[in-house]
Amino acid sequence: MIDAVIPAGEPWMGVVRRGQALRIVDLEGNQAVDTLFYNADDTHEHYSAQNTIQAQGRIYLTTGSVLLSNRGRAMLRISDDTCGRHDTLGGACSSESNTVRYALEKRHMHSCRDSFLLALARHSGQSSGGMTKRDLPSNINFFMNVPVTPEGGLRFADGISGAGRHVELIALMDTLVLISNCPQLNNPCNAYNPTPVRVMTVTSSQENQ
Ligand SMILES: [Zn+2]
Repeated sequence: MIDAVIPAGEPWMGVVRRGQALRIVDLEGNQAVDTLFYNADDTHEHYSAQNTIQAQGRIYLTTGSVLLSNRGRAMLRISDDTCGRHDTLGGACSSESNTVRYALEKRHMHSCRDSFLLALARHSGQSSGGMTKRDLPSNINFFMNVPVTPEGGLRFADGISGAGRHVELIALMDTLVLISNCPQLNNPCNAYNPTPVRVMTVTSSQENQ
């Protein structure tokens, strides 16, 4: 069983077993949750934003979205979503993107990419043993509002999530979950105020479907 509160700006890792439902709760609202999924038995197989978007023919994720791996296999299915949609185009913030987008002096601020690497380092020797920055593909930003403009650009907009909203995913394989509870302070993805989120395994309302 998983039931953990991830503090503002912190990473988290855990394994969800096939058939379990993982719920991520935006406790205070407007919090981006950068997330990656891996086959727990072979971490070379991981979430693929490209395959997922292509297969579903839509750029946002919500109830019914099946998250595909780089090998084209179904990893998880979003079974419930009280936020409405989630981004998988915007990527994870990094010291490099903070420098390019905002200012050189933002370089040393906390970022999701560094949080991902910190989690991998903390868990080296366990299921994530041997994983490095090469193992960080394009991620999902749960609860993050990244509208695509008519010109085809991306905008980091104010959030559409709220306190207590959640997304629930049913694991279709044993899945290693890597989360960076985004520490970003330079754009409105966290309302300039990073807050904690909760991750928990739950009995899915759709477990018989
Ligand atoms: Zn971030």
